[in-house]
Amino acid sequence: MVSKEKLMLNTEMDIYIIGAGISGLIAAYELERAGFSPVILESDKVVGGRVRSDYQDGFIFDRGFQVLLTAYPEAQRYLDYDSLKLKKFNPGAIVLRPGNLFTIHDPLRNPLKVVSMAFSSVGTFMDKFRIFKLTQSLKSKKEEEIFNEPDKTTLQFLRDYGFSEKIIENFFMPFFKGIFLENELETSSRMFNFVFKMFSLGHAAVPENGMQAISDQLKSKLTKTSIRLNTAVKTIDGNLIELASGERIKADKIIIAAKPDKFLPQMLGQFKPSRKVVNLYFSLEKSFFASPMIGLVTDKLFLVNNLVFMTDVSKSYSKTGRALLSVSITKSVKLDDKLIEKVKIELEALTDIKSEHFKLEKVYEIEDALPQIDDMKSSMPATQTKIYDNVFLSGDYLLNGSINAAMTAGRKAAEAVILSIQPNMH
Ligand SMILES: Cc1cc2nc3c(=O)[nH]c(=O)nc-3n(C[C@H](O)[C@H](O)[C@H](O)COP(=O)(O)OP(=O)(O)OC[C@H]3O[C@@H](n4cnc5c(N)ncnc54)[C@H](O)[C@@H]3O)c2cc1C
Repeated sequence: MVSKEKLMLNTEMDIYIIGAGISGLIAAYELERAGFSPVILESDKVVGGRVRSDYQDGFIFDRGFQVLLTAYPEAQRYLDYDSLKLKKFNPGAIVLRPGNLFTIHDPLRNPLKVVSMAFSSVGTFMDKFRIFKLTQSLKSKKEEEIFNEPDKTTLQFLRDYGFSEKIIENFFMPFFKGIFLENELETSSRMFNFVFKMFSLGHAAVPENGMQAISDQLKSKLTKTSIRLNTAVKTIDGNLIELASGERIKADKIIIAAKPDKFLPQMLGQFKPSRKVVNLYFSLEKSFFASPMIGLVTDKLFLVNNLVFMTDVSKSYSKTGRALLSVSITKSVKLDDKLIEKVKIELEALTDIKSEHFKLEKVYEIEDALPQIDDMKSSMPATQTKIYDNVFLSGDYLLNGSINAAMTAGRKAAEAVILSIQPNMH
């Protein structure tokens, strides 16, 4: 729709986008489609924001365990899955308890087919039917409908829906703690239902060469955008952008595709603190999982919440011949040698593999992992992204913490910029 009108637009405008995360890259893409040549200012040395990977010592380390849900409507619109060579996780989870490890295959997609014996250790017979019922009802609901439903915490939703405490403790808690990066399932039930629907329609996947490939692919689609890396923005004052270097840039339009409170003092205090996560990578001689699946630790006393052998999903994650294990901790912890020792002891207790076999390879402490949002949405009218005359907002923090939302936000901000230049365009 946008590109048809491009001849009517003054495409010479100087449009600046702050941030080359997913939302900034999508905003640039949409502006290009409408005929513009925007400039992205990015403080980091690589594009991707929170969707980044490090390639080091023969390993691929994603910056925090993260997956693409293949059913995301926006990802289907913007990404070429084939060239990403997506590697899928098997649906379901491996549940780890000290000395005991078992697999529940496909509980969200095919709950009725899950073998009763495996399921009975995590939930009741009725839980299976409730999962089935929920899956069916969500399949027929549009994303907007899900996000318009009354808001409650995920935990309350699960209890109100009739799920047993057993399945909440043994499956939903560890599974969704690892997704929401918080420990009480206080995240909105809207997000739970959206993610649940995505899991039941598609797969969790990572690109063969790491999550960075998603960001790189979006970057490679930009042909008219200039990206200035290592360029941190300090403040924005009207149409003036001041860089950390002292350089001042006059812009016709500005899209802030990063949390805006650091550039706009008037926005300070408007955001709740973000969700954090600690992600540790260990290498081992070989994987102790039989298939590419997410491992869940159900014992609340443990620090480790979930663990995944990245090399079971994509062999490219290690060129060293060793298996690469990603371990996530959602509890609030102090990252030091003691923590690493405790985690190794937990891993030994869970797997019976001596702790010295787990070789620490990389550590990430991610402070701003996910935004904490009170009123989660799937989308918003483009006009609402405008905060001042020529300044627009973009980013997952406007909607919900996901790659899908970051993409929606990027598109909406670009639409708003285009509308502001040619107000009669619809
Ligand atoms: C550990 C972890 C796990 C996650 N798991 C999932 C998952 O499984 N599935 C899912 O869908 N989503 C997941 N997410 C969320 C997803 O990654 C984000 O929602 C999405 O990447 C947000 O994109 P964004 O463009 O809105 O913001 P960002 O990626 O934060 O982009 C903002 C950009 O602005 C730049 N910037 C900041 N300040 C300045 C400045 N002063 N000057 C210039 N540039 C600046 C930053 O460097 C960054 O590149 C996860 C995130 C993390 C961290």
